[in-house]
Amino acid sequence: MGKVRVRFAPSPTGYLHVGGARTVLFNWLFTRHAGGSLILRIEDTDVERSSETSADAIIDSMEWLGLDWDEGPIVGGDYGPYFQSQRLDIYRKYADKLVKSGRAYPCYCTSEELSEARKVAMSQGRPPGYSGRCRGLSPEERRSLEAEGRSPALRFKVNEGQTIVKDLTRNEVVFGNEYIGDFVILKSDGYPTYNFAVVVDDALMEITHVIRADEHLPNTPKQIMIYKALGFELPEFAHVSMILGKDKTKLSKRHGATSITQYRDLGYLPDALINYLALLGWAYDDEQQIFSREELIEKFTLDKVSKNPAVFDSDKLLWMNGHYIRETNDDTLIDYALDHLIKANLVSPRPTPEELIKVRAVVVILKERIRTISDIVTQGDFFFTEDIVYDKKAFDKFLTRDYVPEIFQVLKSRFEAVDSLDKEIAEKIIRGYAKESKRKAGEIIHPLRVALTGRSVSPGIFEIIEILGKDTCVKRIGLVLTEL
Ligand code: GLU
Repeated sequence: MGKVRVRFAPSPTGYLHVGGARTVLFNWLFTRHAGGSLILRIEDTDVERSSETSADAIIDSMEWLGLDWDEGPIVGGDYGPYFQSQRLDIYRKYADKLVKSGRAYPCYCTSEELSEARKVAMSQGRPPGYSGRCRGLSPEERRSLEAEGRSPALRFKVNEGQTIVKDLTRNEVVFGNEYIGDFVILKSDGYPTYNFAVVVDDALMEITHVIRADEHLPNTPKQIMIYKALGFELPEFAHVSMILGKDKTKLSKRHGATSITQYRDLGYLPDALINYLALLGWAYDDEQQIFSREELIEKFTLDKVSKNPAVFDSDKLLWMNGHYIRETNDDTLIDYALDHLIKANLVSPRPTPEELIKVRAVVVILKERIRTISDIVTQGDFFFTEDIVYDKKAFDKFLTRDYVPEIFQVLKSRFEAVDSLDKEIAEKIIRGYAKESKRKAGEIIHPLRVALTGRSVSPGIFEIIEILGKDTCVKRIGLVLTEL
């Protein structure tokens, strides 16, 4: 075989969701492993449901995930156009070929007539596929139907027998042709149907491997018939299993975030998603969970793709994201964190040098504790705002203790007395005062933590004091004092 050529062929009718991302990832890994090409083709022939915005959103998500393509929108290529809506004359040409060879014929049935015929067939226990009503029309009959103002669709003539799909993930699947009625390849408005356009394009774009979701398996026999009727060479097929939610139903919005954009906005890292998505239906062995991109490319083969449904486990993804956050260098994390902090209005759109220093310090101290980048906002907001929301439980538990006003008075004045507060000085003041007042350090630290952060759980208090700085600490202690 020549060079491997695979494609990702999304219909631009929404965002790139987890399932689509897994499909493009498997294609990408397969072709990068083989030194082949990935073709991105936008299947926008459903005029009502397709939009440019969706195509852009899908492209954006692929770029964000770092899944690059060798031919398609933006990059171009020798097999274009890569938008199906720009290939209508090509489909027309191949449809005409099928008409000439007697494998396709015009069908004049209206949608009302078709749904009526379906109802009758079902009530008689026959398969609801097309009856073949227009198959044997004479030229005169056609002319008279056209004279009625009917414009025909083109239907593919399905021969008797069976069609075998050789699938790389599930061996042979046999389909009885009697269950596949003659199907439309070109609609009366001149647009091709999915099953037709996909074959013409995959053949002309010299796709060697069609790797896609297994919901398309029932379409594959139709496509194989068209390949054969047009004299095209068949590609290899690999249908990858469904993705289910934890409750074992098909993954959907009910299970939480499903689009890649949502994961980006929630603060997931592209590398974590790539690693996680790779494991949805593929495993190298039973052990290894963490794979770098390079390792995935090296190890990915289709024989390790499972035909069983994969279960999407958002807790595992969250765990994995935490792992990747800890592996990411500080500068990269700071860039991600800035995005989230700016969106949350906690840092100015053009951060000042002071803000940048603070963001760095906050990222370093939270890095071990967060699982998404947006946790920086939820766990670290108190570093950036004076509007601290005091957790009521924490307030009641630690700040209403009777000794608190007294220790806060002392701390406030001792903090005020130093030139600047770094973590060593803060520790010295607090531990010294604990000793002197015969209290456990915790009795001082817990209330102080609530006063400075608004909550009872946080990173180390001395580091927090250093990042907040003397003035802010003094101000916050003073504020709590006035409220007690
Ligand atoms: N446009 C189809 C889809 O998004 C492509 C299916 C295929 O890969 O053949 O489901």
